[in-house]
Amino acid sequence: MKHDVIVLGAGMVGVSCALHLQARGEAVALLDRRAPGLETSFGNAGIIQREAIAPYALPRDFGFLLSGATNQRIDVRYHAGDAARLLGPLWAYYRNSAPEAYRHISREYETLIAHSLETHQQLMNDADAHHLVAGQGYLMLYRSERELHDFFHVADERVEAGVHHIKLTGADVAREEPSLQGAFAGAVRWTDPLAIRSPGDLVQAYARLFQQRGGALHLGEATTLRRTDEGGWQVDTADGPVLQAQQVVVALGPWTTQLTARFGYTAPMIPKRGYHMHYAPLPGRPLNSTIIDAEYGYVVAPMKNGLRLTTGAELALPDAPRTPTQIDDAEKIARQNFPLGDRVDPEPWMGTRPCMPDMKPVFGAVPDVPGMWCAFGHGHQGFTLGPITGELLAAMMTGAKPRVEVGPFSPGRFG
Ligand SMILES: Cc1cc2nc3c(=O)[nH]c(=O)nc-3n(C[C@H](O)[C@H](O)[C@H](O)COP(=O)(O)OP(=O)(O)OC[C@H]3O[C@@H](n4cnc5c(N)ncnc54)[C@H](O)[C@@H]3O)c2cc1C
Repeated sequence: MKHDVIVLGAGMVGVSCALHLQARGEAVALLDRRAPGLETSFGNAGIIQREAIAPYALPRDFGFLLSGATNQRIDVRYHAGDAARLLGPLWAYYRNSAPEAYRHISREYETLIAHSLETHQQLMNDADAHHLVAGQGYLMLYRSERELHDFFHVADERVEAGVHHIKLTGADVAREEPSLQGAFAGAVRWTDPLAIRSPGDLVQAYARLFQQRGGALHLGEATTLRRTDEGGWQVDTADGPVLQAQQVVVALGPWTTQLTARFGYTAPMIPKRGYHMHYAPLPGRPLNSTIIDAEYGYVVAPMKNGLRLTTGAELALPDAPRTPTQIDDAEKIARQNFPLGDRVDPEPWMGTRPCMPDMKPVFGAVPDVPGMWCAFGHGHQGFTLGPITGELLAAMMTGAKPRVEVGPFSPGRFG
């Protein structure tokens, strides 16, 4: 079956690439080994983070590094052996988190985030998916006055970039979220982001739109990708036909470089795993908004299947054994304040944020592999950045001028 482009991977990034290529008149086949949106794009905190104009840096202060060394923090954990193997990329991440480098990277990052909301809203309109929006905005909740006031400064600095917020005192928080127990210093309510009640369902709604518009969706193993005699690409499907196309987009999230490496392209990735668990809501004690408990680094989000608690980062290779102690420890803290009932899921979900040492996603032509493109490495904000990535990649692939400078995100930047 001949197409113009095969997109490998039906997470938020791959589905968005497929839709935007289709909108530019390309005949697109989308292939995944599972149904769309069942991996990282399924299990995240579901926030379309218009406020995240700066990526997630590695804290460089001594206190953080010292407390991190004991491997007891709620927000960051590591598997010692895997962290040792990641020392090179982690060192680059540390250097890129220094103030001047970070300012530069953030300016580049912002050029993508600035379009995240409008590109999602367009797709939501087309896919009739607005019912999946649980609410607008979310809370960054603080326990300490000092941390809260430092964060007020961060919020004020973002106003110039078109990011809006409301400052809340502890009493305001108690009024807005009466089901929270305990005293909090206050919060910042980011007012632009959208909270999605089921992130996987949003990917599936976008995938249905792709199919309604004539796109071909197949189950299959991306590792069967190979060259055709004519210099194009072909890949097997589980349902029979062999797909062929002149161009391929590799959008396999944290698994991307495993495939591209076979064709000679690698890039240093820092896998940051995360877990989630759903809890039954307590009768008469609803949670109105998604809330980040800022000092502990976990999120509680009201979702379709209950209150979803997502953890911070665990530095471990994607296929390393699961160690969901981080979720157990976050749950102990969260239960003191949040209205969490019984656990709903039989076991914690786990996924991997594909993070690059310079904190920027990677998309564009794969160097020295004619006809191969990639889109991956979106780290903490891939759910947010999928649609703008798809738009820019589709422009590049069809010879149009992308409306954002794409050089900073080039796959060739790792040398
Ligand atoms: C706990 C947690 C919370 C997060 N919260 C947020 C948030 O609130 N907002 C936000 O913007 N981002 C968030 N993120 C990050 C976000 O989820 C990811 O950046 C994003 O989902 C990556 O999307 P993707 O399409 O690149 O990858 P994926 O969604 O993982 O998609 C990759 C696809 O490739 C397929 N695949 C892999 N290998 C093969 C193969 N060999 N053959 C065929 N198919 C294959 C998989 O089945 C999968 O469907 C969070 C992440 C985590 C872990």
